Amino acid sequence: MMTSIKTIKLPLAAPKPDVRREIDRAFRDFRWVYDEAAKRMPSLKRKRIGFAKDYVYYEWVKEFRRKGIDLPAQVMQQAVEKARISYASMLGNKVFNRISRSRNDVLRFHNQCFHIVHFGNMYFVDLPLRAGRGHRVILPFKGDSYSRFFLEQVSKKTLAYGASELKKYGEEYSFNLTVKTGVECNEKFTPIGVDFGLTNIAVAAAISEDKTKVKLWRGKEAQHKRRMFLRKIASYQRRGKLRKVKSMKATYRNYMKTVNHQVSREIVDFASSFYGPYIMLENLHKFRKQNDWTFSELRIFIEYKALEQGIPVIAVNPRNSSNRCNRCGYVDRMNRSGIYFNCLACGYRVNADVNAAINLAQGRMDNYS
Ligand SMILES: [Zn+2]
Repeated sequence: MMTSIKTIKLPLAAPKPDVRREIDRAFRDFRWVYDEAAKRMPSLKRKRIGFAKDYVYYEWVKEFRRKGIDLPAQVMQQAVEKARISYASMLGNKVFNRISRSRNDVLRFHNQCFHIVHFGNMYFVDLPLRAGRGHRVILPFKGDSYSRFFLEQVSKKTLAYGASELKKYGEEYSFNLTVKTGVECNEKFTPIGVDFGLTNIAVAAAISEDKTKVKLWRGKEAQHKRRMFLRKIASYQRRGKLRKVKSMKATYRNYMKTVNHQVSREIVDFASSFYGPYIMLENLHKFRKQNDWTFSELRIFIEYKALEQGIPVIAVNPRNSSNRCNRCGYVDRMNRSGIYFNCLACGYRVNADVNAAINLAQGRMDNYS
């Protein structure tokens, strides 16, 4: 078994002003503890510095509290621990400078100290910012699909996590989650984006080890049949043959059901041929009018067939998925011309549905992300 440790930056929604003040206050306290501990490190006997749980550190934490630092003891210990590690690595490299003062806005939490929770569709991190019970804040995550995949696993406890950090970048806050993936040797996950359409019933793109594999389910035959059925239905309707209309509609539904069973089976088979697959589907907004039901049926079939195989399925907001270049991130409606995607920024040219599926797999619909 190999364990690999990976830090995932999960953007948080902007906190309310009072919460923001409270977080910024905690950042200041954390910095103070770090700097103070860094200053004291050289006064310790060298042998001592190796012990993270040295009682000296506990004494410091008690002392800092008396000096008015209001952070949970666990969080103060993390600040001391950060200072200890920088000092120990400096000794290891035989560099004997002082540790430079911390300039970061950061708070570090032991994994028993914070919780990832979810209510309905939203994920939150629950953090203690002061000593004593009740002094916790609950911050919502921005719901991009890449984050959701990890948050879902963490809240289901199928993915282990370690000490993690709340950090501020400019005016943005993010929670940097450290996950331990204890999978044999190759610990990678493979996202598979699935785009639905008419020209192609579905296009699946799998991104594994920086290589992209694509599979298309062409819709030519289904489209042809659909037109035929619609023509017949319309003609029976004109002639007032309502019973015929009803039975023709039922035949069409059955036909599409068979197609959807087959396509969904093949999509899930495609997904399960990769290591650690998870499927990203668009949550259909673009087919409001016609064909609504056939796509939602296909989606439901994929969901339960994937579930049988233990493959997670994540709904993605498809906004921009067909206008964004998966190579350079440039978003423009004019990137699309007919069945082709032709990036106006970098010149990349590819089948439009393939581009959309890759964007879904990347979980990124924004400009230049
Ligand atoms: Zn481009």
